[in-house]
Amino acid sequence: MVRLFNRVNNMTYTIDWNKINEEASSLLSAYIQFDTTNPPGNERRTAEFLAGILKKDGFSPELLNFDDKRASLVCRLKGSSSESPLLLLSHMDVVGAVAGDWKVDPFSGAIRDGYVWGRGTVDCKGMGTMELMALLLLKRAGVTPKRDIILLASADEEAGGDAGVEWVVKHHWDKVAAGYVLNEGGMGIKGMFGKDVMMPCFGEKGPLWIKLKARGKSGHGSMPTAENPNDKLVYALERIAKYETKIILLPEVKSVLLEAGKSMKFPVPLIAPLFINNLFLNTIRRRLKKMKKVNAIIRNTISITNMKSGFKENVIPSESEAVLDCRLLPGQDKDAFIEELRGVIHDPDIDIETLQFHAPSESSSKNRFMEVIKKVIAKNHPDIPFYPILGAGFTDSRFFREKEAIAYGFIPCLFSQEEVDTMHGINERISLKCLGDGIKNIFDLCCEF
Ligand SMILES: [Zn+2]
Repeated sequence: MVRLFNRVNNMTYTIDWNKINEEASSLLSAYIQFDTTNPPGNERRTAEFLAGILKKDGFSPELLNFDDKRASLVCRLKGSSSESPLLLLSHMDVVGAVAGDWKVDPFSGAIRDGYVWGRGTVDCKGMGTMELMALLLLKRAGVTPKRDIILLASADEEAGGDAGVEWVVKHHWDKVAAGYVLNEGGMGIKGMFGKDVMMPCFGEKGPLWIKLKARGKSGHGSMPTAENPNDKLVYALERIAKYETKIILLPEVKSVLLEAGKSMKFPVPLIAPLFINNLFLNTIRRRLKKMKKVNAIIRNTISITNMKSGFKENVIPSESEAVLDCRLLPGQDKDAFIEELRGVIHDPDIDIETLQFHAPSESSSKNRFMEVIKKVIAKNHPDIPFYPILGAGFTDSRFFREKEAIAYGFIPCLFSQEEVDTMHGINERISLKCLGDGIKNIFDLCCEF
């Protein structure tokens, strides 16, 4: 399909979307074939590959080398004003894949049945391809955007960003300084709450990883004792597993719950207003635990993820350990949460150690940047509801939010539930339709904002 655009600089130009989509799918296919499983990542070769594509179109990309194997790629298209740049962010590294479980080789980049297959197609090389293609298109079409557009393909997102965005922001801020960031996080999902919805993430919960260590006395397994650290840990973990954190509704989460309730099958819409009523939510709190996606965005959560103890059948050990993956809502204080947890554990023989913490981060959802995203989506996907939402996971957006940037997580296209579930799972794939829509939406966003 060929469409005409007639917007910036009073220029008329033609984009052959069929050709662009073809180019994008073969680019993504080649991108997938670089195995950037992290660790170790080895993103430098991939960054060189992307740089080569940009150079062919006359760009001057730059590699920010963390070491001889790892690098991030940055590239800038100058805008017509000094307004704060828009940065298009994605990461080049991926999580591992067990090839035997897949229908295709996870690093083949196979194109078939209307999809590009492979590890990273959804998370996050697909978005990287959309962003790169949008940048190429802007230049080819002779569009000078209002503000600089910066492309950043980073290393090391899947392992925390020490060799990626955290390092780039710390050591090369001048190259990536931007007031606005578009990153992964949210997306459009088909058939969510019974209909298609577009859900950009305005904020993310903060991970707090905690180690519990129960201290006791070792001894012979034939003679049970009150000093057995395993008993202490088991009792503490039982209290934690049964504990229900308070329900806290952020305004944006309230809107989503309300809208979701209204769009469900009759008679649910009749009681939709109750979905944002704390009293009601408290009465159904047990059931909420089964609705894990909702549960995760209305409270601080705790998952017991590791337990380690003992070395022999007949020896009571002197200590035992467990790890908790806690996730805090924006606005929540880490120290206060640890005190709350200490109260639940209620045992002086159990030490609490913080293994890792990243503060929850958010950008106001009431920003012109969000308004423009919404406008673009309304134009290209009429009638699809648009709900800014909180993310339960965390992304590299937090490093930019720390620098006061407005960062939203949004892969701007509609995925099926099935595609979403392949992320970090098996048979990861992105539909060619999704890829094409994403390019168009990001291209339009760069023109409009
Ligand atoms: Zn990702």
